[in-house]
Parts: sequence; structure tokens; C-alpha cells
Amino acid sequence: MARVGVLALQGAFEAQVEVLRRLNHDVVEVRSAEALEGIDGLVFPGGESTTQLKLMAWGEMLSALHGFVASGRPVLGTCAGLILAAREVLPGPQESLDWIDVTVQRNGYGRQLDSFEARSDGGRTLMFIRAPRITRVGPGVEVLDTLDGEPVLVRQGKVVGTAFHPELSDDVDIFRELFV
Ligand code: GLN
Repeated sequence: MARVGVLALQGAFEAQVEVLRRLNHDVVEVRSAEALEGIDGLVFPGGESTTQLKLMAWGEMLSALHGFVASGRPVLGTCAGLILAAREVLPGPQESLDWIDVTVQRNGYGRQLDSFEARSDGGRTLMFIRAPRITRVGPGVEVLDTLDGEPVLVRQGKVVGTAFHPELSDDVDIFRELFV
């Protein structure tokens, strides 16, 4: 059992909290830099990435968040959370935190339905909601799962990013493997 923080400034953080509780973690809703003290891992939920970034900046949380990632503790960014963690966001310019060397295109599956369910090449159930598309993967990034050959689950060091919403399916292995 770990003490896991969920960024709770905006967006779909409640389902993340529920999954983590189901896996017997002690969950902290993070709304300030102080709340990062004493937690073992952190989840960045889906939502609206530009709003989330503004709220983190207004709350003067950015340097503490960079410090958290630099400490090597596990971090999961889902959907908007992946956008925040990416090196480059299209259409730009959009600031991001540069923890995973990927380029993402916001709403990059837009020509399909806004929301859809699919099965990954690795057999996972994937729930997409106005999802970002990963259009470039840097050399230090591992691709852990794909959809029709395109990356949807990536990792750089201890930071994992998903284009989909793992908290909305029953495939909770990502949470299980990352937070122990
Ligand atoms: N489209 C949203 C964004 O760009 C992300 C969607 C989501 O998190 N479900 O921030």
C-alpha cells in the first residue's frame, strides 16, 4: 500500500481516486505544493490541460511538481495528464512540463467520435475521451502499448503517460504496476 496523490484542481480526478482506493492505497487529493509532501506517487487526471496548467501555475505548484518527478517517484498522466507531461503539444504553442519526450496532438482522434472504446494491440480495453494522439516518440521513451500500431501508452523513467483513460476500464494493471 502506498500513499498516492491525485491532482485535484480540475477534471476527472474522482474515478482515479476510486481506483486507487480499490487497490488499497491511501489517497491524497493534491491542490497545493504542500500536499506533495509525504506521498509516494502522483496521478495527473484527464480534463482540460490548459486550465490545469494555469491552476498549477497560479497555485505556485510547478517547481514542487518538477521536484517530485526529479525525485524518481512514480507518476501517471492520463489524457490531459499526458498532454501536460509531454515535451511538445500541437497545435502550439502550448506550454507543457516536458517529462516524457513525445509530441502529442490535442484532440488528435477528432475525426472519429469524440469518445470511443477500442482494444489495444496488447489486448487492453481503451477508453478515449477527446484524446491526445502521440505523433512522435523520442529515443528515451518506451512504448508499452499501441492501437493499430500507434503509441497509446508510453513511459520515460518513472513517468507513464496514457492517451486513454485507464481508470474507466477494468484493466487496472497500469495502476498496480506503477504504485506498489
Ligand atoms: N482534450 C483535452 C485537452 O486537450 C484532454 C481530454 C481529456 O483529458 N479527456 O486538455
